[in-house]
Amino acid sequence: MNFTRLVLLIAFSCLIRPVLAADQIIALKAARLFDGKSKALTQNGVVLVEGDKISDVGGSVAIPPGAQVIDLGDVTLSPGFMDAHTHLTGDYSNYQATRLRELQVSTSAKAYSVIPAARRTVEAGFTTVRDVGARTYRSHDYIDVSLRDAIAKGIVVGPRMFVATCGIGATGGHFDDSAGFRDGLFGSEPDYTDGIADGPDAVRKAVRFDVKNGADVIKAAVSGGVLSLTDEVDVPQFTPAEMAALVDEAHRLRKKVAVHCHGDQAGREAIEAGADSIEHGSFLKPETLTLMKNKGTFLTPTLMAAEYIKGKLDSYPPALQAKAMAAFNTRSDMFRNALKIGVKISFGTDAAVFPHGENAKEFKLMTDLGMSPIDALKSATVNDAELLGVSQKLGTLEKGKLADVIAMPGDPTQDITATERVSFVMKEGKIVRNGPATPPPAKTAARDALEEMEADF
Ligand SMILES: [Zn+2]
Repeated sequence: MNFTRLVLLIAFSCLIRPVLAADQIIALKAARLFDGKSKALTQNGVVLVEGDKISDVGGSVAIPPGAQVIDLGDVTLSPGFMDAHTHLTGDYSNYQATRLRELQVSTSAKAYSVIPAARRTVEAGFTTVRDVGARTYRSHDYIDVSLRDAIAKGIVVGPRMFVATCGIGATGGHFDDSAGFRDGLFGSEPDYTDGIADGPDAVRKAVRFDVKNGADVIKAAVSGGVLSLTDEVDVPQFTPAEMAALVDEAHRLRKKVAVHCHGDQAGREAIEAGADSIEHGSFLKPETLTLMKNKGTFLTPTLMAAEYIKGKLDSYPPALQAKAMAAFNTRSDMFRNALKIGVKISFGTDAAVFPHGENAKEFKLMTDLGMSPIDALKSATVNDAELLGVSQKLGTLEKGKLADVIAMPGDPTQDITATERVSFVMKEGKIVRNGPATPPPAKTAARDALEEMEADF
């Protein structure tokens, strides 16, 4: 190449560079836009995306010449939804079958079986989820950690994940997988390596062990639960000293603390200890909710969980049926009280108790109990971003934030079930879906095995 040609080539590439840069801008256009902060929707919404970030957003944004325009029409753009309470690596939608399957399946087979659930979840508009407890009986292979990393590397299609590894609980408590089985069946009693800890020092060790193995958030079962066979649903399962150790150690390591808690006493003690969120909260009394409001503790109501269980109550063991109904009967009043008192509400569903990908059904349950549609949308965007500690990067459509943008048909403030019909999903500037969802795989081996067992029960 002679000198003149080289000069011409450099000059030419300088000339075309601005055109190439403009080509990289994507302009998303829609009839409406929910930015995550405002009290009302913006008409004629535009989001400009450059690389993985939002470069501009609003109702009267000029589209740069050469931008790739994606006109989505009569839809509402929104920040990607978040679900602060899933078990993306689990499937408890058939309790008895799952309980048996957990004893049979290898962790690697289980890991492969959840790949379609990850895709379904992100294609439903949930670009960020927490997996708050991903235990497999007596396995120390943390598939929530490996799924989180596989998604982050682009190996698996799914939401950005924040994970808890196995979660921490007391002997005989909601997280003790050996409870309900014959004593000694699994050999030694579970210990901190299985997330079972008694006493403040052991709880601290369990927190450190979870973080060592990749936990982003510390999850603990501080009261009884519905889907555990031997405990009462509302009893406290950690002492105040154990809870103080749990929260102190987690916060020292800069991890948030999410506590599974139905009971009022356990809730009060966890809030006083400084837990960041109460998950479920079925039996919380107004005084306890007022304490939450004053301390800034989030409530993650997971209304979908009780709703789904109630719909197929007969398929659960009698002891669980009674616990599910007790929790269901109080949670609606609790939620209404929380709204009245002004507790911060984060969006969480307990997906895994019901099939993954149906997370958005939680919105209608929230608005049916009196939450405004805008506040319900905020719970799944700006509020969850605050709870997860990612407000700097996510949760609103704002210049400089990561381009997690979804679209749903029509106006969700008029019909909240529009959230269940998301048609466009972008995560970090990459389009995950524009149009129909990916059909589920014809049959996965794990799903086959589960269906066989379902037929037996
Ligand atoms: Zn849960």
